[in-house]
Amino acid sequence: MSTFKDLGLLPVLTDKCAAMGYTEPTPIQKQAIPFILEGRDLIACAETGTGKTAAFLLPIVHKLIEGPKRPGTKVLILSPTRELANQTEEFCRKIAPKGVTCTAIIGGSGYKRQMDSLKNGANIIIATPGRFIDFMDQGLIDLRGLTTLVLDEADRMLDMGFLPSIRRIEKKIPSTRQTLFFSATMSAEIEGIAYKMLYDPELIEVSPRGKASRLITQTAYPVSPNSKMVLLLELLEKDSLERVLVFTRTKRGADRLAHVLEKRSHSSNRIHGDRSQSQRDAALRAFKSGKTNVLVATDVAARGIDIDSVQHVINYDIPEAPEDYVHRIGRTGRAGNHGRAITIFTTAEEHSMRAIERLTGEKVERVVHPEFGGHIFAETSSVRSTAGGPKRSYRSFGGRRRR
Ligand code: ADP
Ligand code: MG
Repeated sequence: MSTFKDLGLLPVLTDKCAAMGYTEPTPIQKQAIPFILEGRDLIACAETGTGKTAAFLLPIVHKLIEGPKRPGTKVLILSPTRELANQTEEFCRKIAPKGVTCTAIIGGSGYKRQMDSLKNGANIIIATPGRFIDFMDQGLIDLRGLTTLVLDEADRMLDMGFLPSIRRIEKKIPSTRQTLFFSATMSAEIEGIAYKMLYDPELIEVSPRGKASRLITQTAYPVSPNSKMVLLLELLEKDSLERVLVFTRTKRGADRLAHVLEKRSHSSNRIHGDRSQSQRDAALRAFKSGKTNVLVATDVAARGIDIDSVQHVINYDIPEAPEDYVHRIGRTGRAGNHGRAITIFTTAEEHSMRAIERLTGEKVERVVHPEFGGHIFAETSSVRSTAGGPKRSYRSFGGRRRR
């Protein structure tokens, strides 16, 4: 068994690991930390919930402690969402000793406070691209001393939505920097873009990329479109599910669903891009503390968020991209805990289910509900004979009802 000390980390950091209850480095930490300490560029892929944050932050903080202690931005970590940036900053504060400073630069809140922390020369900036570029364009961030760039959820940061921002930021930082890309998923296309931003990179793949966490039990329910809500309520109520994160495709869908849940007296809340940052923060806090049992979310909560008590993830709408599936269900089954993922889908979405199975390389068990999906079963079962696709099994839902 190797330890954090074996990886070459300073005692002040191995002590923090022990204090957080990290007895042993996870596989991605074992593989990535020595390369980062050496100064190498990385593409690092590992399953959701396996400690990628500490895999990059521990060696980054180690190097800052060893380097000259002066104010000024040396590390930039970019995240796709404000919630993830906040979470990463929180972790950074936990492990960074006095003298190593960090700040989150995110949209939706704290403009003045963030500006002040930049003036004070925070060493580590954890940012979402929009607000960061806003400050950068105002000349408020001195990036000349930057030594390390991290793209967390790298494939998302390099997709069409974020890439133009990343390119603008890249132009302003020294080309001698170390660049680190971390994610659980990475398509070949995005990898091509990534390689162009890296110098002689090391590629680390702890498990085949795109693989869902092995700690998650996955099930899928084929239903007719107008049975989705009834099935969701049945699952929540008859099975008394606890600590449930429900994903919808749209913000409106999330509002509608949350409304129905409220009417049915579920303690629930919602998080999506049209809510104010304080509403988003409050919703996440209440769910984390257990005050609300069901959190309805769009993909804004699909990546990176670490809430150890999430027991169930339900895809009320099947995700648009198969990668989103891996990230959404990855909100459970974290840090060695088991979790359960349920996907509700209609016959018209069978192809999306199959795309997910192709990406993850495993079949998802279909459970046919006699009331909601009976006629769907007849259609989908013919899929079984389709050559090439992964074999799937069908289990009839509700054995307990027949007893
Ligand atoms: P990822 O980015 O890979 O999805 P995170 O960095 O969010 O995963 O970590 C997931 C959880 O695992 C966090 O709660 C974190 O505190 C915990 N964790 C990280 N490293 C270890 C470790 N070595 N031992 C125990 N728990 C760990
Ligand atoms: Mg992460």
